[in-house]
Amino acid sequence: MIPQKILDKAVKYHGHYGPFLVIGIRASLYALQKMGNVRVCHIFCPQKKPYLCVSDGVMSVIGCKILHHKGEGIRLCFEGVGNTLCISVHGELIQTLSGSKWNELEKLAEMVRNMEFSDIFEVS
Ligand SMILES: [Zn+2]
Repeated sequence: MIPQKILDKAVKYHGHYGPFLVIGIRASLYALQKMGNVRVCHIFCPQKKPYLCVSDGVMSVIGCKILHHKGEGIRLCFEGVGNTLCISVHGELIQTLSGSKWNELEKLAEMVRNMEFSDIFEVS
């Protein structure tokens, strides 16, 4: 789960608390735990908000170089030293989140914060 300190820092950095920011944070914490060291993160997603909010989650947790790529859905590929880890967000969840209203964002952020990792992501 996300330590409160990390969450607070990310929200401050990003400017608001939302589910896509939480996705970036959780993917980053997972990548750091698995890889120890991340040098670059490639983010594949539509080049607009709220999808791009994922990026600030990665930046606030890892602070690595981030390269944006056009894509369908949301996929993050973390590059370490000689290793790579790619994580995709389940399409159904993205649909649910992207159709949300502004006043629902905090509630949805809490939901994503508390979901099982495997209910959010597919590692490949
Ligand atoms: Zn945002």
